This record gives sequence, structure tokens and C-alpha cells, in this order.
Amino acid sequence: MKIKEILAQEKPVLSFEVFPPKQEDAYEAVEHAVTEIAKLSPSFMSVTYGAGGGTSRYTAKIASGLLKNYGVTALAHLSCVTSTKDQVREAAGTLKTLGIENILALRGDIPADGRIETDYHYACELVRDLKQMGDFCIGGACYPEGHPESPGKEQDILYLKEKVEAGCDFLTTQMFFDNNILYNFLYRIREKGITVPVIAGIMPVTNAKQMKRILSMSGTYLPSRFKAILDKFGDHPAAMRQAGIAYATEQIIDLIANDIHAVHVYTMNKPEVAAQIKSSLSEILI
Ligand code: FAD
Repeated sequence: MKIKEILAQEKPVLSFEVFPPKQEDAYEAVEHAVTEIAKLSPSFMSVTYGAGGGTSRYTAKIASGLLKNYGVTALAHLSCVTSTKDQVREAAGTLKTLGIENILALRGDIPADGRIETDYHYACELVRDLKQMGDFCIGGACYPEGHPESPGKEQDILYLKEKVEAGCDFLTTQMFFDNNILYNFLYRIREKGITVPVIAGIMPVTNAKQMKRILSMSGTYLPSRFKAILDKFGDHPAAMRQAGIAYATEQIIDLIANDIHAVHVYTMNKPEVAAQIKSSLSEILI
């Protein structure tokens, strides 16, 4: 099923993100986690592509397994900045053959060694190409706090508009820990004429170490309420996990109460985290 059709149903959407193994020998463990998360029957699941050092080669395999073995709609991420046009064509062909209808079209982060290809510079170029390569439902990434490389939030939104006009059917946000940041962002993009559905990306932070890594990567704003949780429970793993899940769940409840009906949870391949969030929302998601 296409994600734009799921979003059009106007009932709460809860989706989960997983990532492929970083090393081949971890495949079985990841497959197990993905299976457990799929059993929770999310609205759809997304599979990242080479993000954070994960291998890109398993993305299509995991996405196709979700579809075939569990009937879960799959969203395959695809990045372009380290790929040639031929490689993108091949990747899109594989997804099509496997029956995967949804692609999150990304530029990808510039690798530390600076090695990129020259065919693609921005995600909007990938979106344009994918439109020609099949009947895909295409998503794009967006950044309520602005993309870290962008010259400013206004300009970032203008580039976002260009990406959407290239053919995005929906957008998924970068994580944020203060819902007001999302509400302001939505106001600003709607004002600029970006009308596609926006899926709110929520990261349950279950350990303080993970938080430090995230912050160094994204520069995400931390509200004082969240900082207090980190200060108080950061050195107590079980308490931090509980508090992190509760915080994410509260964020989701507030979003749904404010008519943001699509939420994507960055599960970090942790089935127990996904399960707890889903079960805490059992009456809210109906
Ligand atoms: P773009 O939309 O191309 O934007 C990148 C930068 O270029 C921005 O600063 C933008 O303002 C600017 N820009 C855009 N268009 C133009 C233009 N025409 N001219 C000049 N400047 C322009 N990474 C992975 O490697 N794999 C993944 O699976 C993955 N999944 C992600 C999922 C989500 C929901 C999000 C939010 C991010 C994900 N990322 C992933 C990270 C993403 O690849 C990086 O954030 C990357 O730096 C930007 O990708 P983008 O597609 O948003 O790029």
C-alpha cells in the first residue's frame, strides 16, 4: 500500500523506523528485532539506508521481508550523494521488483572522508529521477529546527518547497523534543504553500550516551524539562529508559491531541521500546 493512502485515511498513524545491521554478522539480531517490531502491526515501517554507518545493502531485503512475511507496508530509504545515476536506477529497479512502493528520498550525509559522487547534490534531484523510474510514493526529510548545513530556516523552507514540488507525497521530520518547535514549523511551511502531509519523527531517548551522540550530530534543542530528566536519571540506565519512553509517549499524546495524526518512532531497533509506546497509546490510536 502507498503511504499517501494510509495518511489519507485520517485516523492516527503510528509507524516505526528500523536500521540494517552495521556488520554482516549482526544480521540475525537485527532480523529478530525487526520481526518483533513488525508483529506490533504498525501503520508502516521504514528501513534506513546506510545511515549512521549501517550497511545500505540490506535495506531492500529487510523492507521486502516486512511486506512478504508480515504484510507490513514498507518504506525503503534511499540516499543519493554517494551514488551515481546508474546505481540509483539499479536500486529503484530492485525495489520495484520486490514490490516496494514507498521510498524516502534523501541526499544522505556527506561522508567524513568527503567522498561523494557528482551526479546528485540534493535530494530534490533524486526525487525528480525517482518519479521517472516507477510509480513510487515518495517521501522527503524535513527539519523543524532547520537542517544543520542550511544558511537559515527561511532558505531551508524554500529548498524544502522545491523538493516537495519535485514530487514528494509526504515529509517525515527530524526528531524534536519540544512539540512547539513542530507546531511553529508547520505554521511556517503551510504559509509558504507546502501542503503535503507531515509525519512527526519522535525519538525515545533510552540512554544518556545515545543522547550525547544525537546532540553532536543534529544540534537538536533540549527543553529544560528534558534536561532535568537526563541530569536526574542519566546515570541510572533502567530509570533513564523508563523516563525516556514516558517522555516520548507524552510527546505523541500531545501531538495527537493537537491533530497531528501521523507519528514515526525512531525505535533504534528496540522492540520493547516500540511495544511499550504502542501499548500506552492503545485507546488513543483508535
Ligand atoms: P536535502 O533536502 O538535499 O537538503 C540538504 C541541505 O541542502 C539542506 O541544508 C538544504 O537546505 C540544502 N538544499 C536543498 N536543496 C538545495 C538546493 N536546491 N540548493 C542549495 N541547497 C539546497 N541519512 C542516510 O544516510 N540514510 C537514511 O536512511 C536517512 N534517513 C533519514 C530519515 C529522516 C526522517 C531524516 C530527517 C534524515 C535521514 N537521514 C538519513 C539523514 C539525511 O540524509 C541528512 O540529514 C542529510 O544531511 C540531508 O538529507 P536531505 O535528504 O534532507 O537533503
